[in-house]
Amino acid sequence: MKILVTGGAGYVGSAAVEHLIAAGESVVVFDNLSQGHRAAVHPAATLIVEDLANRAAIDGAMTAHRPDAVMHFAANSLVGESMQRPFLYLANNVTNGLNLLESMMAHGVRRFILSSTANLFDRPARNPIDETEAIVPGSPYGESKYMLERVLPWLERIYGLRYAALRYFNAAGATAERGEDHSPELHLIPIVLEVALGQRKQVTIFGEDYPTPDGTCVRDYIHVSDLARAHILALAALESGSRVYNLGNGQGYSVRQVIETARQVTGKPIPVEVGLRRAGDPATLVGDSAKILRELGWKPEFASLQAIVETAWHWHSRHPNGYAADETAESMRHQ
Ligand code: UDP
Repeated sequence: MKILVTGGAGYVGSAAVEHLIAAGESVVVFDNLSQGHRAAVHPAATLIVEDLANRAAIDGAMTAHRPDAVMHFAANSLVGESMQRPFLYLANNVTNGLNLLESMMAHGVRRFILSSTANLFDRPARNPIDETEAIVPGSPYGESKYMLERVLPWLERIYGLRYAALRYFNAAGATAERGEDHSPELHLIPIVLEVALGQRKQVTIFGEDYPTPDGTCVRDYIHVSDLARAHILALAALESGSRVYNLGNGQGYSVRQVIETARQVTGKPIPVEVGLRRAGDPATLVGDSAKILRELGWKPEFASLQAIVETAWHWHSRHPNGYAADETAESMRHQ
């Protein structure tokens, strides 16, 4: 199959591309490189550096490559930023997603996988959270994903689109070649590993007065390779219908547990300070993935936080400056 992957130069998208290529698929990456990295794109994939705001560029990619399916990872994806800049999310994420879907419909592409988010569940009645939980977006970011989710059943009814919406909990870890490199880095695990590498003095814990066992927020960390495998399984399963899944490990870890695990994995002390709560953080978010296990046989291979942090540490200690060194080497080769 030929698959167009938007955001295939980003953290989760680039890992999915790696897995798609390993599974023998042909991949075209569509990415504006605003957050992604050229060096993260698997060399066997074709890279189109373009923006989803440019409908003509999407049409050009559809005409030139005639994909069988689209995986849509490209998006602004920071909860906190979306509270500061709502239109970046409510306008860009939604408009760009609609551009992509409209182009797909015009070109007869009828298979679609959406990266969605656990930020749909701001006030869960229970944890772990399954697909029957009421949807209450926690931010304009979550709302933008929900708006796209809500478009999909209409396109199914009107055009026969088959889709899967995959709601990730906290993507984490690295493959041997590809890891997490955001600028600025705001996610807990890479920040903790930057402290272990001596690049930051300490990690700030955002609040320890939550109603959790140690007072710090509890999250469900899921390995990018497990996310990638879920995409591949969901794509194959579209033959028998559209679907929506929550993707988590089913086990929560507190911020303090993440830091303690990183101390064990890295052998470094990792100093902490306790700061204020970060706006918009629910106390506990843990995913229940029983549905995708039951329907598609998906189960996380990296089930423990320790295993996830080990892969992240492996990548970060080999790429202490993220992809920067790889990108410099690549641009030297092209001179
Ligand atoms: N967190 C923290 N200090 C940091 C970064 C994150 O205490 O420097 C906490 C954050 O409040 C949340 C958890 O770690 O409870 C995971 O945050 P992250 O930004 O990695 O993912 P999110 O849960 O926001 O998707």
